Amino acid sequence: MTAFALQHVRVVDGLGRTRPDATVLIKGDRIAAVGDARQLAAPRGAARIDGRGLTLLPGLMDCHVHLCLGGDADVVQTVQQDDPALTLLKAVRYARQTLEAGFTTVRDVGFRDHSIFQLKRAIDSGLLAGPRIVAAGQVICMPNGHARFIGREADGPDAVVAAVQAQLDAGAEVVKFIASGGVLTPGTSPDSAQMTPEELSAGMTTARQAGCRVAAHAHSAQGMKNAIRAGAHSIEHATLMDEEAASLMKTHGTVMVPTLSALATTAGCSLACGVPATAVAKAKAMVARHKSSFKMARRAGIAIAMGTDAGTPFNFHGENAQELERMVALGMTPMDALVASTSAAARLIGIADQVGTIEAGKLADLVLVRGNPLSRITLLQDRERIVGVMQAGKWVSGPLAKKQ
Ligand SMILES: [Zn+2]
Repeated sequence: MTAFALQHVRVVDGLGRTRPDATVLIKGDRIAAVGDARQLAAPRGAARIDGRGLTLLPGLMDCHVHLCLGGDADVVQTVQQDDPALTLLKAVRYARQTLEAGFTTVRDVGFRDHSIFQLKRAIDSGLLAGPRIVAAGQVICMPNGHARFIGREADGPDAVVAAVQAQLDAGAEVVKFIASGGVLTPGTSPDSAQMTPEELSAGMTTARQAGCRVAAHAHSAQGMKNAIRAGAHSIEHATLMDEEAASLMKTHGTVMVPTLSALATTAGCSLACGVPATAVAKAKAMVARHKSSFKMARRAGIAIAMGTDAGTPFNFHGENAQELERMVALGMTPMDALVASTSAAARLIGIADQVGTIEAGKLADLVLVRGNPLSRITLLQDRERIVGVMQAGKWVSGPLAKKQ
């Protein structure tokens, strides 16, 4: 069994604690021990890595990506023009870029078809390099609803249940509902609710009874409230939050996945960038409200899990760590941003018993970076600083992966 000893490394454990001078032992696919460098000796035969000047983090997690979208200006048009096989081949590349950026797990909350589950299997079996994927398959939306270009449209509670069942049969571990209009789908308005409370409730109950997580896209406050009451585990975007929505989230324990990068990258785009003008206008109109909703959520004590919406215009796979900078700019400490991107994300995804923290017994999904992200969160965006990305005890990316 391969064993590694990372010595004299700064450990940020994913739970809000740090050890400035630690040794971490990895045996097989698991973390065997974490201790003070002066007390925990490396076992004989273990490969030793000098961790001075380096920080070890749990593998980062992004709770909101779309591996079928590539961050181009008009993603709706690209998906409609590309053959599904080409979309899947592109997704293979995006998955690899995500892993190289230190992200060992992603939640894919909407793919054009069910081939995402084949990509997941190919990565799980070691055929391809990529993050662990927890996938929704197609999103569930109303007829002509937002995100229908990566969704299954359903009208009425029975049709919604059938649409959910189709995702579960294909292998979904999370089901995504569209509870408001959106930015990228022409003709839908983010400030109006979509799907009825009855449809949301029927669909979410089906997903929950199958042991699945439930994510709901909602910009509008009414959409958020409908989804929270119907049983969503997370609200994605939560852009136009009001006090009632915030207090409902708090009492129901609903998690916010802010995706600040999604609105910011689209709103920050110039007229000539190629993003459809309707989408830019919608994003620009909401970006300030989105920031105040993020602050409102923090004041209300709502749990936050990191998500970028990577794949949306100019929001590229592999640049996922930009979201931590955006959260810190709105008042979060770097430590809290790291918690949101590790243990809090793992809890939302439902894999916290396996990954998300640096503790003995957990799977060794880790990222080793040069410098201290607690004093400068942006260094996580610098690929040169990523010394190694480890999945289940194996270096899978970075200079350390090339050495082994
Ligand atoms: Zn999305």
